[in-house]
Amino acid sequence: MSAPANDVQDYVGFDTITQQMERKFLKRGFNLNVILVGESGMGKSTLVIRKTTEIAPVTQMLEENGVRVKLTIVDTPGFGDQCNNEGCWVPVIKYIKDQHAAYLERELKPNRERIIVDTRVHACLYFLNPGSRGLRPLDVEVLKRLTEVTNVIPVIAKSDSMTIEERTAFKRHIKEELAFHRIMLFPYASDDDADDDRVLNASIRELIPFAVVGSEEVIEVEGKLIRGRRHGWGVINIFDETHSDFVHLRNFMLRTHLSDLIEVTSQRHYEQFRTSQLRQIKELRAQQAAAAASGGAPPAQPQVPLSVMQHQPMTQV
Ligand code: GDP
Ligand code: MG
Repeated sequence: MSAPANDVQDYVGFDTITQQMERKFLKRGFNLNVILVGESGMGKSTLVIRKTTEIAPVTQMLEENGVRVKLTIVDTPGFGDQCNNEGCWVPVIKYIKDQHAAYLERELKPNRERIIVDTRVHACLYFLNPGSRGLRPLDVEVLKRLTEVTNVIPVIAKSDSMTIEERTAFKRHIKEELAFHRIMLFPYASDDDADDDRVLNASIRELIPFAVVGSEEVIEVEGKLIRGRRHGWGVINIFDETHSDFVHLRNFMLRTHLSDLIEVTSQRHYEQFRTSQLRQIKELRAQQAAAAASGGAPPAQPQVPLSVMQHQPMTQV
């Protein structure tokens, strides 16, 4: 918009706000935290080229055309013990909620930092076993719990172990099962989505679960170096869109839906956590006040720090 020619005095210039916001955003950069979850041996560590024995965040800075992204990947050891997977998701859910609790604590400090350190998990890549027939009861249970606390993105692990037909059939089957079990995945449908968002999100939903292939190896093919896996019948290039969905997944997370992942985490998942925590504190205080008023009750307890408050699961699976 340009200033009206007849009366320059009337032009306030708030139309420059988008440029101001953009500059500020770009300067500050984005902070994206992603957690990898799934059975052991599914190629989680290989995808990020790392070995894990504990939940461990690793950070790297990415920069493209002046936009900075601080990407932190939290690799997890995975569910190993096949005979007893009871509660195997507990450490992962606890990690995610602990990050929410830490943020809430920082946010509630009287003299809080201007920009609060944000370790909240923005996305969870959930690795599905390509050897299974579909979602196992364990997958359903873990996925339900994960979707309550973060944005979940299912991926088919080691998808080079399937033929193209098998992969297509597996994808379709998983999609049906996810819908059947009402597992709420990112990107969520929203009434205020513009038409182009709807089209974009539909194309993303079509790709879910993303078929990925990981590799630690750099291979020379026709004089070019690629990251891939060598098989008897040829080489898989993990960045080749006809071989794997890795590039689509990367574009989705780091380009088209980067700010959406961050925003939804704050407005949906964190907000839910925050509300339930603050409500618990309020109830606790009311109980203490009531006990004190009725006399003979135990003396009022000191304030409970947020980090040790009991995290209540929001639904029972
Ligand atoms: P994690 O337990 O999920 O972290 O799995 P790892 O990353 O340690 O990988 C387990 C094994 O699977 C290793 O021998 C990897 O070389 C192999 N692997 C990892 N990614 C792939 C893949 O995409 N395809 C195939 N065929 N093997 C893979
Ligand atoms: Mg690992």
